[in-house]
Amino acid sequence: MRETATILDIPVNPYTMDEAVSKLTGDTLSQKINFVVTANAEIIMMAQQDAAYKKLLQEETDMILPDGAGTVWAGNYLGYHIPERVAGYDLFLRLLEEAAKRKIPVFFFGGKPGVAEEAAEEGRRRWPGLQVAGCRNGYFSAAEETAIINEINGSGAAMLFAALGAPKQEKWLNHYAAELKPCLRMGIGGSFDVLAGKMQRAPKWMQDAKLEWLFRLMKQPSRIGRMMALPKFVLEVRKEKRKNKS
Ligand code: UDP
Repeated sequence: MRETATILDIPVNPYTMDEAVSKLTGDTLSQKINFVVTANAEIIMMAQQDAAYKKLLQEETDMILPDGAGTVWAGNYLGYHIPERVAGYDLFLRLLEEAAKRKIPVFFFGGKPGVAEEAAEEGRRRWPGLQVAGCRNGYFSAAEETAIINEINGSGAAMLFAALGAPKQEKWLNHYAAELKPCLRMGIGGSFDVLAGKMQRAPKWMQDAKLEWLFRLMKQPSRIGRMMALPKFVLEVRKEKRKNKS
């Protein structure tokens, strides 16, 4: 396996998409737990401001994948070999495809009421045989959390996709790590919105031109505050490289 890339203290595992899909599917079938994060530059910058989130990413996760053009650039710039971008949404779809093929039940947790169900319907349309064992929206009070855990565990799902946005989804998955039964636990941000057709993904040419951030900003101008983290990320990575050299 390629050397783990440390980007602003976050250990990023440079798997290719195919390698990640094959490992995560195989591990799930053999009941090995994986807490997976697809880390884009926004997530890595969030961790710089939030010590508990940084510690969680460093110590509690099993696989951190390079999402976003920024993370891939940073890894390679710092001298590691990051073969490709492994975007959360793309990985989610590939895992659904494997789940359908191998009859692995999945659980959709998160998003506004009804969206996970719509995403599940679209998933079953694309991959006939996909077993979505349960759906639960992502808006809940602390008092409801035990019932949510029981619903997830009672569903028999082996893969849990949590779409609560970062860092909430990772903190939730980590807080309940010991109680949760599904072997694969992964935060997927707004992926149900995209699969349900509520939100568009950037066209392929924009992704290839590393402009997915611009597309997102055009669709959701309110993201501007969060996106100011991106130029800061570039500056911090350049600083880290100078530090490494000296
Ligand atoms: N969301 C949720 N519960 C919350 C806050 C957000 O289920 O308390 C959902 C929201 O409906 C959306 C997703 O989480 O579907 C966040 O999407 P975003 O694209 O902002 O994810 P990020 O970029 O933060 O990973």
